[in-house]
Amino acid sequence: MKFAEVILPVPIPKSFCYSIPPMMDVAIVVGHRVLVEFGNRKMYTGIVSEIHDKHPDKYEPKPILEVLEVEPSVNPSQIKLWKWVADYYMCTIGEVLNVALPSGLKLSSQSYIQLHPHFIIQDNLEILNDREFTLLSHLEKEQTIPYTQVGNIIQLKSPYKTIKDLIAKEAILLIEQIKEKYKPKMEKRIRLTEQYAENPEALDQLFEQLGKKAKQEDALLKYLTLVPVHEDHLSNYHGVAKKDFVHSGRALSPSSVGTMTKNGIFEEFERQIPRYELTASDKMQPTPQLSDAQNECLQKTIKGLEEKNVCLLHGVTGSGKTEIYLQLIQGVIQNGEQALFMIPEIALTSQLVRRLKVYFGDVLGIYHSKFSDNERVETWKGVQEGRFQVVVGTRSSLFLPFSDLSLIIVDEEHDSSYKAHDPAPRYQGRDLALVLAHFHHAKVVLGSATPSLESFYLAAKQKYAYAGLSERYGDAQLPEIKIIDIKSKRKQKKMKDDFSDDLLQTLHQTTEEGHQAILFQNRRGYSPYVTCNVCSWVPTCPSCNVNLTYHIYKNELRCHYCGHKEHVPNTCVSCGSTEIKTVGLGTQKVEEGLKDYLTDLRVGRLDLDTTRRKHSYEQILTDFEHGHIDVLVGTQMVTKGLDFSNVRVVGILDADRLLYFPDFRAHERAFQLLTQVSGRAGRRGEKGTVILQTTTPNETLFAKVARHDYRNFYRKEIAERQQYHYPPFTRLIKLTIRSEKQELTKESAQWLGNRLVNWLGRKRILGPQEPNINKIRNYFLSEILIKLERENFDLKKAKNYIHHAILQLKEEKNFKRVWVTIDVDPN
Ligand code: ADP
Ligand code: ZN
Ligand code: ZN
Repeated sequence: MKFAEVILPVPIPKSFCYSIPPMMDVAIVVGHRVLVEFGNRKMYTGIVSEIHDKHPDKYEPKPILEVLEVEPSVNPSQIKLWKWVADYYMCTIGEVLNVALPSGLKLSSQSYIQLHPHFIIQDNLEILNDREFTLLSHLEKEQTIPYTQVGNIIQLKSPYKTIKDLIAKEAILLIEQIKEKYKPKMEKRIRLTEQYAENPEALDQLFEQLGKKAKQEDALLKYLTLVPVHEDHLSNYHGVAKKDFVHSGRALSPSSVGTMTKNGIFEEFERQIPRYELTASDKMQPTPQLSDAQNECLQKTIKGLEEKNVCLLHGVTGSGKTEIYLQLIQGVIQNGEQALFMIPEIALTSQLVRRLKVYFGDVLGIYHSKFSDNERVETWKGVQEGRFQVVVGTRSSLFLPFSDLSLIIVDEEHDSSYKAHDPAPRYQGRDLALVLAHFHHAKVVLGSATPSLESFYLAAKQKYAYAGLSERYGDAQLPEIKIIDIKSKRKQKKMKDDFSDDLLQTLHQTTEEGHQAILFQNRRGYSPYVTCNVCSWVPTCPSCNVNLTYHIYKNELRCHYCGHKEHVPNTCVSCGSTEIKTVGLGTQKVEEGLKDYLTDLRVGRLDLDTTRRKHSYEQILTDFEHGHIDVLVGTQMVTKGLDFSNVRVVGILDADRLLYFPDFRAHERAFQLLTQVSGRAGRRGEKGTVILQTTTPNETLFAKVARHDYRNFYRKEIAERQQYHYPPFTRLIKLTIRSEKQELTKESAQWLGNRLVNWLGRKRILGPQEPNINKIRNYFLSEILIKLERENFDLKKAKNYIHHAILQLKEEKNFKRVWVTIDVDPN
């Protein structure tokens, strides 16, 4: 008897043993997706991680119910990566699987099925048995059916075999939630029928036959100029879009095309339109010619990668790092290998993807969390089958089934959205890229204008190679940054609400001249809170310990932590006064204020509130690109990666707030954010201007931003990190303790803290401490920060202690209702 260890998407830290029935229709190997029963008649898709013949001692293993595929979806090096992630980030391998595998590949008792949009039941009757037909007919009426009901419909206790067969026949699709229902866009296309496409003589004869029917002959000629079938008969396979063909300039008669289709010369077929289809105006292009400086940087990068495997590409904003990446990827494609181009979560603007599509065309796959399940499955399969040699994607693309990866590019490597928060695994995508590359013997390029302290430190220590690019592409220069003291402006009465006279004048002038501007304020909503003028009462969230933010458009108060909403009270709850006023500045207020002072301007806004819908982000940016918006106001969304040539001015309304986060990375973040947002100005043509408003104009960090002086920023910051034992000199692990009672949270955190102090020593444990916001969604929080040495230290042992301490906590009777989450390398 053979047994399989199966990884299941459950938060239990082990794999599970199942027996392999002798009569399986596919020989099971590592990486196969299998269907198994787990717990109380729940069904899950698991991944086989090992095959052996040891019967478990303590229980009788259940059989594997079904193998879901012929070729395994997961390769052994992926399983190796999952194990590494579970180990390092202190979670279960099931939690890793849950994030790594797109839900379209996870059939479970929670799944839904839908009819495959391409599948027409009437055309396929001969391949369907009665049960399958019954189920499909139901689906035609019901749209989606939960897995749990399938058994009833086809009167089978275990319907998985039927489902599996229908998936194989491409008759149904699996979806995780109804809202993900998959609707591809289809396009009618036309091509020659096989008898003519694959037989040049038949085609010649056809021409003779058509000789007297000029219109049909025209159509045939037209087709052959669009699709060179005579040179390469395979080109016929994709044909041409019917509407392009029929309306292609010269008088082509649609009715003769119709006749020819009837006569079996042409055939119509449907094709799914890919999400990022190139339009006629952006046809495939060769990669651009590099400038001398760029070329030098490229050579340095290539040489650096040979020596060290990892190269930090430190190029100022607008220097053309993307162009250098393109060259590197081109080399990979020519060698027939795979490359991964990683981007931070928000940067997936159609701008960058379109740019990449133009260069790489069909070999480029896209993988992004905003994609539907089935789009993700498509990319997964494309990588597996080798159709996609290049993938552009966010951090989860690290989990794709690469087999021959030779280069990973991590663009904007400093960006904090590479870090995953909830659920586990709380991995850092940039760091994991290094691990994945190591497994594949691949090279890594980390690119940024403002490298993370960690990466620059390793480059300085020559662990990484370094390639710098200190000038912008073309004649563009870095912007001039003006620091405006808003305290003294207020005294001189030169402030209008939150706008200095300099800012308003500069905005006025640049828009007069036909240019555009970006204004950055890192708070959404209208104002961060409202308060009673008489007694200073402030409305707070009933479930979280935070002030409610005022949103002007719906005239309501919202909690940004749990989504709670309520009306703005007319009278103070505490003293009954009617003097309720708003305090502080959010993006809505900036937008409104601007419209008051610069009445002619067209103002747009980019923040979480305006971009909730799927394509609104792209819509706003397109409007901006086409000049329908003069000034774009936004949160940190406007700081990342935007490349608009007409933006001449950037305004930063309140730079101070960035500095006072209670976090050891606050200054690093502030430097990066201010430099990045400034970098949006003057990317082409004349020098741009940045107006940075602050109440502390002498703050040295602002001076460094203004001088574009990364190195001095780095020197000061790294010295402080060393002095106070913070990363990159130590490794941090953050434990968050949660319960519904404040006392209980406090007690259990104390208990856990003491245990850890006993095992790891006082100096390695900070806290427990209540975080600034100590209650979220009715849970009270406490945090313990563990600081561990990077060198000469047994990390594995320390992690075992931590796991053990948490387990012991859970075993204490009083602490049953306490939860602990572990975050390794927290942000
Ligand atoms: P970065 O990522 O370094 O901020 P980008 O790669 O976005 O800079 O380049 C800035 C702009 O300059 C882009 O619009 C890009 O198309 C243009 N550019 C950079 N290098 C070249 C080149 N060699 N040829 C043509 N255009 C270039
Ligand atoms: Zn009051
Ligand atoms: Zn709340």
